[in-house]
Amino acid sequence: MVNLRIDSKEVEAEKGAMLIDVAREAGAVIPSLCHNDELPPYGACRLCLVEVKKGIRSRITTSCNYPVMEGIEVLTSTEKVLKYRRVNMELILARCPNSEAIQDMAKEMGIEKPRFSLKDEDCILCGLCVRACEKVVGVSAISFVNRGTGRWVATPFFDSSAVCIGCGSCAYVCPTQCIGMEDVGGIRKFRKWNTEFKLRECKVCGYHFAPEYQLEYMRKKANLPKDYFDTCTNCR
Ligand code: SF4
Ligand code: SF4
Repeated sequence: MVNLRIDSKEVEAEKGAMLIDVAREAGAVIPSLCHNDELPPYGACRLCLVEVKKGIRSRITTSCNYPVMEGIEVLTSTEKVLKYRRVNMELILARCPNSEAIQDMAKEMGIEKPRFSLKDEDCILCGLCVRACEKVVGVSAISFVNRGTGRWVATPFFDSSAVCIGCGSCAYVCPTQCIGMEDVGGIRKFRKWNTEFKLRECKVCGYHFAPEYQLEYMRKKANLPKDYFDTCTNCR
C-alpha cells in the first residue's frame, strides 16, 4: 500500500493505482473525457490535470496515467489547476463545437465560447473506442491513422469489412456519441466506420438481438454449441 495526501486528506491506496481513481474515491471532482478505469490510461483529453507536490518540487500533471506514490501531496482544485483544465476544455470545444456532450461539460467548467478558432469535428481523439475494441473485445478492428492535425480513427486500410464484429462497444464508450450506431430493420449500422451488420433474429420471439458476426465470435471463443445463440437472452 501507498500513503499520500489528497486535498489535505490522508489517503491509503493500492500500489499501481492511478491518481484519478484514488482521488475520485477520496471525494475529489476531476473531469475527464478519455478515462475509463477498465481500460489502459491514455492521457489524451488532459482535463484530469492535478498538481502533485513531492518534497520541494511541484508539477501539474494528468492524473489518469500517474500512479500513486508514497508521500506525495495532490491538489485537485487550485486556481492554477482549474485554469489549465479550462484551457484544455476550450481547445476540445473549439475542435468539436457542435457536440452536445462537449458543450455540456464545457458549460459545467464555466466555458460558453472558446477563444480559439472553431473546427467542425465530432471526434476528440480520446482513443476510448480503439482501446475498448482492442482490450475488451479483443478484435482491434479500428486504430488511429495519420499524425498531428490529420490524425483520426478508422478501420485498417479503410477496409470496413475486415475484422469488426459489430458489437457496438466502441459506440458505447464514445464520449461524443459520434460513431453513430443504429439498429434498423434487422441491420446494425455504424455511420463512422461505414459498416453494416445483419442482426440475428430470435427463433422464439423474432427480435433482432445481436449481430451474426458477434454471436459467432462469442460462440467460437467460448466453444459453445452451434445452436447456442438461436434465441435471445429473454427467450432462453
Ligand atoms: S463494433 Fe467493431 S470497431 Fe466497434 S468495438 Fe466492436 S469490433 Fe470494435
Ligand atoms: S470516435 Fe469517439 S471514442 Fe473514438 S476517439 Fe473519437 S471521440 Fe473518442
